[in-house]
Amino acid sequence: MSFQSLGLSDALLKAISKKGYTTPSPIQEKAIPPILEGRDVLASAQTGTGKTAGFTLPLLHYLSENPKDKFRPIRALILTPTRELAAQVYESVKDYSEFLNIKSAVIFGGVNQKPQVATLRRGVDVLVATPGRLLDLQNQNLLSIKRVEVFVLDEADRMLDMGFLRDIERVMNLMPNKRQNLMFSATFSKDIRKLANSILNQPVQVEATPENSTVEAISQKVYRVAKNKKTDLIIKLISDGNWKQALVFTRTKHGANRLTKKMISAGISAAAIHGNKSQGARTKALAGFKKGTVRVLVATDIAARGLDIPLLPHVVNFELPNISEDYVHRIGRTGRAGANGQALSLVSADETLYLKNIEKLIGERIEVEIIEGFEPDPNASTEPIKPGQNRQGSNNSRKSKSHNSGRNQNRNRRNKNTNSRRHNDKRN
Ligand code: AMP
Repeated sequence: MSFQSLGLSDALLKAISKKGYTTPSPIQEKAIPPILEGRDVLASAQTGTGKTAGFTLPLLHYLSENPKDKFRPIRALILTPTRELAAQVYESVKDYSEFLNIKSAVIFGGVNQKPQVATLRRGVDVLVATPGRLLDLQNQNLLSIKRVEVFVLDEADRMLDMGFLRDIERVMNLMPNKRQNLMFSATFSKDIRKLANSILNQPVQVEATPENSTVEAISQKVYRVAKNKKTDLIIKLISDGNWKQALVFTRTKHGANRLTKKMISAGISAAAIHGNKSQGARTKALAGFKKGTVRVLVATDIAARGLDIPLLPHVVNFELPNISEDYVHRIGRTGRAGANGQALSLVSADETLYLKNIEKLIGERIEVEIIEGFEPDPNASTEPIKPGQNRQGSNNSRKSKSHNSGRNQNRNRRNKNTNSRRHNDKRN
């Protein structure tokens, strides 16, 4: 199938060819036709599948073929969970609309609102936004989404995970009832289905197994290792393997900072990206990583979600996630754009249950290797790490203090106060 046969306008085809795309990805093939027909769509697709173009191209086609008000009310709203994803989606919207008379903008928290407001004042057809800043500006009467015709909810599962349900509901109430709705999610829990039912009107369901970020396309391996030897092992793997670049996941922000410092001490250029870092620091870390000046990016799950890092050769789980789906998201960061990737997990005794759950989810056993000098501790407890505990470097789960930090703490807080939009806006 070609992009031409999907019925996209010449101006869009020109932009697509400028991007170097020759054929639509599976999700694009499946999602673009019903979106062009004006149907609501529920799509199962994760980052790396080409989902952004999957909704952006038909959306831009519709807007440009049906021009309306010269004052440019916001006609399409794309809601994303994180600032980084918002910025990336906006870049795509800009690229694809290069040859169209369409104006777009992005708004997210953590930065001064003034330039965003100035852009909105000049008129915007397509707005990409995170929920917090969107509602903030709307509360200040600085924007209106009363005339939105197409609403896109991107990474809906992560939205719920981050406690944005109430905000999404508020946003929905501010838009006209008659509109097209497109919802994208990597996973489909009961909550996601419930949300889909409340947003979508007789949706067409499309599904795409990511071509190049499927679990099968990625070589996965587990290193069984003592907890207090993980840092030395990862440094050895990076150095001995002469890795050009790696994305490393830790479970907590403190863990990310600590590991980054140790890498730097070992002479490996590294940067951490997590919710306690300012927007500027995160952008700088990501830019350094993309340029190649940063060799190792150490990230927490929420911070890494949706980052477009092409051709990433190595993803390392310094700690396994306690939510199995996060494993799939993490390793989806490698082996993209046709390249083969390697996903390695350093697993200590207390992560045994997490590993089992992950294997259950992906439906396969992951190959295990033990490296001499980095053997697992035979006396270590296999009791899982309790949520909120941060015990990197410790060998005994029961002795360690409950240091309620990082993501789990955020989760607890979130559960208590899902209405706290300002709080949400500061996260990830
Ligand atoms: P996404 O899943 O939207 O984050 O896209 C993942 C990556 O695939 C991005 O770097 C896109 O630029 C790229 N991409 C999207 N569509 C295509 C396509 N049809 N052919 C080649 N690359 C694509």
